Amino acid sequence: MKNILISIPAYNESENIFPLYEAITTVTEQLKNDYSFEILFINDGSTDETVSTVLKLAEKNQDISLIDLSRNYGKEIAMSAGFDYFTHDAMVTIDADLQHPPLAILEMIKLWELGYEDVYAQRNARKGESWLKKTTSKMFYRVLSKMSDVSVLPDAGDYRLLDKKVVVALNKLRETQRYTKGLYNWVGFKKIAIEFDAEPRLHGETKWNFGSLVKLAVEGITSYTTAPLKLSMFFGFIISSLAFIYMIYVLIKTMIYGADTSGFPSLMIVMLFLGGCQLISIGIIGEYLGRIFMETKQRPLYFIEDTYDCKKDKNNKS
Ligand code: UDP
Ligand code: MG
Repeated sequence: MKNILISIPAYNESENIFPLYEAITTVTEQLKNDYSFEILFINDGSTDETVSTVLKLAEKNQDISLIDLSRNYGKEIAMSAGFDYFTHDAMVTIDADLQHPPLAILEMIKLWELGYEDVYAQRNARKGESWLKKTTSKMFYRVLSKMSDVSVLPDAGDYRLLDKKVVVALNKLRETQRYTKGLYNWVGFKKIAIEFDAEPRLHGETKWNFGSLVKLAVEGITSYTTAPLKLSMFFGFIISSLAFIYMIYVLIKTMIYGADTSGFPSLMIVMLFLGGCQLISIGIIGEYLGRIFMETKQRPLYFIEDTYDCKKDKNNKS
């Protein structure tokens, strides 16, 4: 019998816990002869009843575990707590808000049995998401794919089944500034996509606002590729070449016609333009430097307040 871990990062999702568990059990029931499932909720510092709801559910059901993180670390870190907990044969990560239909797990497992090690679900349509979010995320993936050597798959979220091998590989990557979608691609392994229809969130509000999406985008680019550094060098080279040509032109003009105070506007333009380019480049370098600074601290990714492990708990009782 193969063990599968279903890992669910949850931040203020108390209303979704019961419906989600119900939806997951309709799937696990169908497979219970061949697989055993453990359903792990990772509470990411929720301020609502998420923990007590999960514990209430765990009283009646044998397959529920809980990791309660010491504060809100963000979804990426919460997911890595699930990777660390993993000792199974495969794991499925799924959102708590029922935007990821659990029914797709059936197909994921089928493909996993065929030898695929990373079965990821791709959104067909993003129901209930704003036009702005859809377009900006599309643009972001296009830019990221152009800039990096490893392609990032658009519309593939974190809803996926990972084989043991992939999770072991991911656990070796301990960077604190995590862009997990990039990491999945970086580690490689046999990947295949399945499609699903994204549903609108069942209860509660999305935790992403425009600011946090921009932050994730910057994180995605700077922790995944050094292309912006190359780009700023490229622009610096072009601009200084142009400036050099202009310098020769001014020099010759002055030698032939003598100096005059006209030319002040063009001087200002060149100065301001170069100043702007320099500030942008310094900003890009600063972004990477900040990243290096954060990584040199070598802090652990997260701290755990409490764990409720269904396997251990069962052993204690017996
Ligand atoms: N989440 C989390 N920590 C956070 C924000 C979100 O663990 O700081 C979880 C959240 O509970 C949900 C998943 O990550 O299970 C996706 O979050 P959300 O639905 O807000 O994102 P969206 O689907 O809008 O991208
Ligand atoms: Mg969601």
